[in-house]
Amino acid sequence: MRAGARGTALESGVMPPSTPAQPESDTPVAQRPDEGRPALDPAIADALKKDAAGLVAAIVQQYDTLEVLMLGWMDEEALRRTLSSGRVTFYSRSRAEYWRKGDTSGHRQWVRGVALDCDGDALLVTVDQEGAACHTGTRTCFDGRALPAVTADRPHPEGS
Ligand SMILES: [Zn+2]
Repeated sequence: MRAGARGTALESGVMPPSTPAQPESDTPVAQRPDEGRPALDPAIADALKKDAAGLVAAIVQQYDTLEVLMLGWMDEEALRRTLSSGRVTFYSRSRAEYWRKGDTSGHRQWVRGVALDCDGDALLVTVDQEGAACHTGTRTCFDGRALPAVTADRPHPEGS
């Protein structure tokens, strides 16, 4: 409901593409065709701590089993689409394009919730994942890929 209301408000706001002349040097590293698009809620955009390429990491987790499925990257537009469409959209750094998970693989991710971390540089997207989250066909990107690690138990409190 909130997402719908926000979307409506933004879309009715029809922002004219009258970008005042700005120095070219101030334009972001990754120029994307943003003209005419609704914008991400400024309050959310302001809270994002994006990297030099304008991206934040998005950790994707299965909502019920809590499996950590994969890590992707989002810019403001990918996050806007994710927040407003019910489907997870990433920004592909290698292909320099938006990528809605499952459009080619059928392994769609249905949004159950999105949270921003404490310092704004990572998102946790909880989803209902259809099939394999990983392009290699494993359920998660981490299945079968454990590294050798020294493990340890936390110390017991005194007297226990
Ligand atoms: Zn993977």
